[in-house]
Amino acid sequence: LRIRGLVQGVGFRPTVWHVARDLGLKGDVRNDGDGVWVRLLADERQADAFMRELRDRLPPLARIDAFEQCPLDEDFQPSDFSIHHSDQTTPLTGIVPDAATCPACVAELNDPNNRRYRYPFINCTHCGPRLSIIRAIPYDRPNTSMDAFPMCPTCEAEYTDPADRRYHAQPNACADCGPRVWIEGYASAEPFELAAETLRKGGILAIKGIGGFHLACDAHNAEAVDTLRQRKRRYGKPFALMARDLDVIRRYVHMDGSDQELLQSPAAPIVLMGRRADASQVLPKGIALDHETLGFMLPYSPIHHLLLQGWDTPLVMTSGNLSDEPQCTDNSEAANRLSDIADRVLMHDRVIVNRVDDSVIRPMAGKPRFYRRARGYAPAPILVHESFKDCPPVLALGAELKSTICLLSQARATVSQHLGDLEDARTSDEFERTTALYQHIFAFKPQAIVVDLHPDYRSSRHGENLATTDGRELIRVQHHHAHIASVMAENGLPMDANPVLGIALDGLGYGTDGTIWGGEFLKANFSDFKRLGHLVNTPMPGGTQAILEPWRDLWAQLHARGLWDDTAASHAHLPIIQFLQSKPLPVLENMLKRGLNSPLTSSAGRLFDAVAATLQLHHERVHQEGQAAIALEQLASQADDSAGAYPLALCEADHGLELDTQPLWPALFEDLSRGTPAPIIARHFHQGFGQSIMQCALTLCGHEALESVALSGGVFQNRILLEQVVSGLEKAGLEVLHHEHLPSNDGGISLGQAAIGARHLADRS
Ligand code: ZN
Ligand code: ZN
Ligand code: FE
Repeated sequence: LRIRGLVQGVGFRPTVWHVARDLGLKGDVRNDGDGVWVRLLADERQADAFMRELRDRLPPLARIDAFEQCPLDEDFQPSDFSIHHSDQTTPLTGIVPDAATCPACVAELNDPNNRRYRYPFINCTHCGPRLSIIRAIPYDRPNTSMDAFPMCPTCEAEYTDPADRRYHAQPNACADCGPRVWIEGYASAEPFELAAETLRKGGILAIKGIGGFHLACDAHNAEAVDTLRQRKRRYGKPFALMARDLDVIRRYVHMDGSDQELLQSPAAPIVLMGRRADASQVLPKGIALDHETLGFMLPYSPIHHLLLQGWDTPLVMTSGNLSDEPQCTDNSEAANRLSDIADRVLMHDRVIVNRVDDSVIRPMAGKPRFYRRARGYAPAPILVHESFKDCPPVLALGAELKSTICLLSQARATVSQHLGDLEDARTSDEFERTTALYQHIFAFKPQAIVVDLHPDYRSSRHGENLATTDGRELIRVQHHHAHIASVMAENGLPMDANPVLGIALDGLGYGTDGTIWGGEFLKANFSDFKRLGHLVNTPMPGGTQAILEPWRDLWAQLHARGLWDDTAASHAHLPIIQFLQSKPLPVLENMLKRGLNSPLTSSAGRLFDAVAATLQLHHERVHQEGQAAIALEQLASQADDSAGAYPLALCEADHGLELDTQPLWPALFEDLSRGTPAPIIARHFHQGFGQSIMQCALTLCGHEALESVALSGGVFQNRILLEQVVSGLEKAGLEVLHHEHLPSNDGGISLGQAAIGARHLADRS
């Protein structure tokens, strides 16, 4: 039996061993470069029974992607069933993601009679760190950061006993032989008592965890929350919360069965759920500012379990960094960088090899959707259609923001954990290290390297360097084509699939015509695309300044549509008009006239920003891209699904269809002047925008005889929009593809790039 999937480092061989013994079968099992190889003395009926039993008893972290059965023709006469050790030279088939402490280990952690009672690094084959501690292949203790901790005889005995839950659990350890925790500067004190004291007194505690450091404080303490925000210089993004159990979480958010399942899964992500009205009375505003959702996670490491004991209320648990910088992983670095933020630091001495942030998921349109895919999910491979099986291996380097990389070969896409925004120099360095490490861990030798068209992305430049130094081909892929190919690939479309209508709505991506794209209707397959339509072009006065200052987008919209003078005159009393009047508009106007630093964009993200500005949502300045648009969605979610909708116009332009915002503005400003409540205005914009997107899609699908629509881009992380467009297009009889395994923001781009690159190579050979 050849078994492929996540079958190494998860207790798969011992399970095979148990099943074979229980069924009285003889043979052996080993790991190799393709997965697990089982030799079984069995007839067909016995082999079927064996596979059935194996699937039933699959270890929690294992995943069987495929298995094949073939007759054994060699002379094989085993006397019993045995486990063979890994051949040290073969590459791993897959690395399992870090997994939350399993129920059996939690029970031992809390059992005074267990030898690991309150031991903060308890783990077993079914749980514990993986990606965060691996340095090289194969996944064996000497190749992880556990190599610094030789096992004591008791741990060693567990490790070598196939009947033990800790058989070949690489991070296996105990208080006698394993890593330890302490509070910096208080070597002899009981660390968890001191940690609890810090939190109770309203202090800020830095905690070294699995894939990085967290900063924690009492979530009910408004002063502590504000202090954390100030010291961390994090103004825009909401803070994630960690609570002891589901009962605590239930007091703050509306949680359904699938939310609970996600929270309790081995991946233990942050799940964004709707905030309960009474939660706002007890939680300080500083937790999530203008958000209607709260992000919760459960304790996922023994350290968290020990820390949360005795807390009936949540703790803020946010990544341990200054805003925009990557999360700290190194002890001395953390002591340095976090000393100004945290009052105390809960440290440990196991090295974090790979930074792995918390994953963030928001259920939308009936499915969990990734906002960030990292701990618990990466680097588990995503299976693409088997027609990709014979493509040469390609390495894709993603975009610039929310960066990930993708290794595609043998129809398996290994997408890295979220690596962050490459504008930051530290993140960019780490990105290059991770690219090298992944190639090393997976013994990956790409034939081509795929990058974004944008020449100035750090990832594009790194790809150019790699291609030159390693003598590989370099392939450039347009940003929104990659977005659409990513949805197609994760939905299992074959390499030669018919074209789909791709709708890519996002912030900004480099177009092929010198403008910046971001509101695109593309007819696309894996080899090519054609731009059939887009949102009307609008200048961004000041270039990147317009990303940070949404009022610029609003003024540019009004000006470019020829509406500014009229709007300013008829609605002069509105605060937003007065605000715009206070800006140096003649200077901006002159810039536009002369085409200075005001690139044209069809970005849907900028349009959302402009509309948010009319309601004075972060109109002066946002702290990160998309903040104003998120606030607009939060506001719209307070209003009912009402009939109103601001129209956009669908126009025939010489190069395709154009969605014009011209009719939207007068209608919106009329409502503003009439004193219509802001949530209703926000809702009407969502409705109108969604309807126009659908109308444009239906028109184009009709013209081009397309039957499938693929949705991608960060703007589709908007729940109202996604749910409206998905249900509307499905009702119209179209097949709608959307992201389930990757984020629809730029975190999903690397897979699309890789699929396009693979098709490109396959076409030529
Ligand atoms: Zn466990
Ligand atoms: Zn030990
Ligand atoms: Fe994008």
